[in-house]
Amino acid sequence: MKKALFPGSFDPLTLGHVDIIKRGVALFDEVIVAIGINSEKNYMFSLEERKQFIEDAFKNVPKVKVVTYEGLTVQFCKEIKVPFILRGLRNPADFEFEKAIAHTNRKLSKIETVFLLTSARTSFISSSIVRDVIRNNGDYTKLVPDSVRVK
Ligand code: ADP
Repeated sequence: MKKALFPGSFDPLTLGHVDIIKRGVALFDEVIVAIGINSEKNYMFSLEERKQFIEDAFKNVPKVKVVTYEGLTVQFCKEIKVPFILRGLRNPADFEFEKAIAHTNRKLSKIETVFLLTSARTSFISSSIVRDVIRNNGDYTKLVPDSVRVK
């Protein structure tokens, strides 16, 4: 069974993430969406909320699992025996950043990173822009799946 880990903050899940997860499901038997816990980051949504958004969005897709983890992504992959990391590439800045991380991960382990180019429709979306829209009372619902709603 081919499994891939899709790691990120998902603060919150966006239509860009949804696109990558759906396309990942076509390539892998299981896509494990892994929410990284970084105690130094200030999140807009709690870990529980972020997890719930993803679980609700994919409740009808059994190939998608949602987990949380702390520490190095490759270490977590080894622990749960997942040989692939899935990441989305939006632009050259993402590429440069992801390239350094993927090389480092290969140095530390045998885990391969698989990149998918984001679809043109959602490539401009980032969680940080969504948070800005929310803070300024804009219509964020166009950028996120229906499961993501601010209480
Ligand atoms: P991180 O804090 O690790 O960047 P994110 O939650 O922002 O976590 O992103 C997780 C993954 O989703 C990354 O691989 C990122 O490139 C990808 N991603 C983010 N936004 C989009 C988008 N609009 N389209 C496709 N992939 C995206």
